[in-house]
Amino acid sequence: MIKFLPLGGAGEIGANCFYLNISGTGIILDCGMHPQRIGMESLPDLDLIKDLPVDYVLISHAHQDHLGALPYLVQKHPYIKILSTPQTRALAELTLHNSVAILKEQLAEEDKFKIYTHEEIDLLIRSIEYKAYNENFNLNGYGHRSKDPVSVNFYDAGHILGSAGILLEHNNEKIFYTGDINLGNQELLPGSTLPDVKVDVLILETTYGDTDSSTILNWKEEALRLAFSINKILNSGGSVLIPVFSLGKMQEIIATLWNLMKAGKLTQTDIYTGGIADKISRVYDYNRYVVNRIDPEFEINSIPQKDLYEVDQPEKFFKNPCIVLAPSGMMIEGTASFKLARRWLKQSNSAVFTVGYMEENTPGYIFANSKKGNKIKLNEIIEEEEVKCTIEQFRFSSHSKREELLKIVEKLKPEKVILVHGSPNGIDWIGASILKKFKGTKVFIARLGKEILI
Ligand SMILES: [Zn+2]
Repeated sequence: MIKFLPLGGAGEIGANCFYLNISGTGIILDCGMHPQRIGMESLPDLDLIKDLPVDYVLISHAHQDHLGALPYLVQKHPYIKILSTPQTRALAELTLHNSVAILKEQLAEEDKFKIYTHEEIDLLIRSIEYKAYNENFNLNGYGHRSKDPVSVNFYDAGHILGSAGILLEHNNEKIFYTGDINLGNQELLPGSTLPDVKVDVLILETTYGDTDSSTILNWKEEALRLAFSINKILNSGGSVLIPVFSLGKMQEIIATLWNLMKAGKLTQTDIYTGGIADKISRVYDYNRYVVNRIDPEFEINSIPQKDLYEVDQPEKFFKNPCIVLAPSGMMIEGTASFKLARRWLKQSNSAVFTVGYMEENTPGYIFANSKKGNKIKLNEIIEEEEVKCTIEQFRFSSHSKREELLKIVEKLKPEKVILVHGSPNGIDWIGASILKKFKGTKVFIARLGKEILI
């Protein structure tokens, strides 16, 4: 008997966290924090499992929305065993320590919500057991009622360094959880590897379920389009701001820009990066021979970069044309990209180019959907401002397009598909397409706190 219970990340791209009970062994898949919410609201609903066995948590990758709430899970369940790939463990150490400072800033006035400490993070990281891709291992919880343990395998998900799709097997029943998965190539990472078996249950992410795939060009074509637009700005003496996530998008985009410069397609100019992204790039570099890479020789830290945090006044970015890669990707308030974008707005010869997915209602979404001459209002406090700079949207995807998600269903031939991690429209599109294309397949939509028997 297998039970599946969503604790978060159901019907939204938020605090991804799913509970599985396999013959008495309690396994949690991911434990994320909602990036747009603050305090208790940002956590998965761990009360839903307070009377259930909780033995293991498997982390698919180190993005905050899959990992950020792990310290709270460990506070509630100190004996839980944590497992991830070695790369996810190394990245988690950086991102969780970094989030201590961010949470302190956000939660200055809230006292109910206890922020974890650097010491707690150190202990937590040390307790993570790591397993390489394709290294089979067994789980056997305290209340396990079967002779067969649960066997697990991580598959390279092609999303960010260390990202894994997770295959669980018990009594010949196979469950595959995609995590965030990308079938296509990026600049550094090649597309995902899928298990070569038929599965019974597929737990499928649906991020791009409501995005028309014709709006997502292939990476190389999109890179040339970006180079063309950046050249126009640089040649007129302006500077370009690109909001990026520090983990994943930053590394892929700087590699893309550098390869364009080397190929003579992009004007050579100063590139600014910095902060935690530099440390993350180093982890990418250390692992370049260990995991699949398009070019294992390519080192991110061999690219000349200036530190954006050493520039004390934003005006200095406009002295000479330059490219600034600043976090966060969705320009969340208080982050470097949000602050810089407000200065960029006033600069008519310069541009803000967005390169990734923007969730609705984020400043990044408002920005990406505006253009020169528009008036925009970034939040309730800030007054309406006129957009004087150029704004253009680009799509460099680290998630599968929606047709590719259907290809995963075609390859793994599941009897049941559980849809997670997407907007309601996206989930509808994927669900309807599966029912039409794969007759006899059952589709479930994950809903918070609603158990599914599988
Ligand atoms: Zn992710």
